Amino acid sequence: MPFEVVTIPCLEDNYAYLVNGPDGVAIIDAPEAAPIIAALEARDWKPGVIMLTHHHWDHVQAVDELKAKYGCMVMGPKEEEDKLPKLDFALTDGFSGGSEEGKCEVISVPGHTLGHVAFYYPKGGAVFTADSLMALGCGRLFEGSADMMWDSLSKLASLPPDTMVYSGHEYTESNAKFALSIDPENAQLISRVQDITEARAENKPTAQVPLSLELATNPFLRPADPSIRKGLNMDDNTDAEVFAEIRARKDNF
Ligand code: ZN
Ligand code: FE
Repeated sequence: MPFEVVTIPCLEDNYAYLVNGPDGVAIIDAPEAAPIIAALEARDWKPGVIMLTHHHWDHVQAVDELKAKYGCMVMGPKEEEDKLPKLDFALTDGFSGGSEEGKCEVISVPGHTLGHVAFYYPKGGAVFTADSLMALGCGRLFEGSADMMWDSLSKLASLPPDTMVYSGHEYTESNAKFALSIDPENAQLISRVQDITEARAENKPTAQVPLSLELATNPFLRPADPSIRKGLNMDDNTDAEVFAEIRARKDNF
């Protein structure tokens, strides 16, 4: 059975993705029509559905144009239905659809926005996290609380470690500088940052990585780590409190 993910850089630093599976082609997030159409036409693919992670304009603004061109269905989080382009199908936490590698589960991951969802393909081994879990980072808390985001990240962190994480922006290089300030002695982080610097020098995307690498290097997933806690003077705090401190420091970095 086929399962293929295509990464499409859009706008300044956004990503859209195509997922080609046994149920057809899905577009995940719609930041910009032209590069998405080009990626589809290059493969002679016709999308059946657009799946939206959250209501921010840089994830939805191409929906109308793509829908007009392809007549595809539009799905997105029910909790943000009033802020999204018109949905043909509203998604709630735990909903799943599709078959085999194309089976996709909706995971509610609020924090960046209150209705943000991630799309998890258990058999395809992929999760599309947009502005929740990001490569070496996590989304800003525009609508939700730190506790809420910590719960959301904890759900994603418990997926199988070989799951590929596809996030919504190319923010990795600036996230890396912050990560090193929180976790300066992490050898895996240091070597990952070198890889990122090299990849970005060649304009290669770096926001698509195995969860195992995020677990080992993303400070937002590592509030339990003793050396991070020590560096923050938070030996006796809860993981959620340490996470909140790391998130607050990133806002002022
Ligand atoms: Zn956003
Ligand atoms: Fe965004």
